[in-house]
Amino acid sequence: MRSLPLSALQHYAFCPRQCALIHNEQAWAENFLTAQGRALHERVDSGEPETRKGIRFERSVHVSAEKLGVHGVLDMVECDMQTGRLKPIEYKRGKPKPAPFDEIQLCAQALCLEEMTGQTITEGALWYGQTRHRLPVAFSDGLRAETLATITEVRELLESGQTPPPEYGKRCKACSLVEVCQPVLLGKDKSVKYVAVFWK
Ligand code: SF4
Repeated sequence: MRSLPLSALQHYAFCPRQCALIHNEQAWAENFLTAQGRALHERVDSGEPETRKGIRFERSVHVSAEKLGVHGVLDMVECDMQTGRLKPIEYKRGKPKPAPFDEIQLCAQALCLEEMTGQTITEGALWYGQTRHRLPVAFSDGLRAETLATITEVRELLESGQTPPPEYGKRCKACSLVEVCQPVLLGKDKSVKYVAVFWK
């Protein structure tokens, strides 16, 4: 089974075509938003582990869950030194979104930690740079089911080897791949389905 990078879940949530372009076609381009996000993560990742008030803060934690088929690097994991309980923390550049994309990515992190440690992880948190606040996230049965379904969808998409046709929308304005993707141009092109399947 192909192991998916955690970042693929986030890219898929943003746009399935972007996910396929990045993870199957190795396309990447940086724009202002991705550069800001990268700078934020570099700042978070560069800190040394530390312990404050009984909590150990581990940065850039590498995870790989074989059964789940997901791997990646977590921004931060908090460990309660008394109970040993783990809590994943993900840093985001922007603000909370209406759809639970960030929650799904965080829950996938928790599922990786659970497989690796045997621990049940009940809660994590998202920290948003734009609003500068921390949002607690409970890993409910519903969120877990949604996360597993998303992992399956991403795997099916990437294993199909097909790149979905572009669907132009508001998100394209924030997409670093807009030049590679050409949503307006290809969206009007009747041969786009042919291109999506055979132009690889
Ligand atoms: S430009 Fe739009 S359609 Fe193309 S990959 Fe980006 S978000 Fe998706």
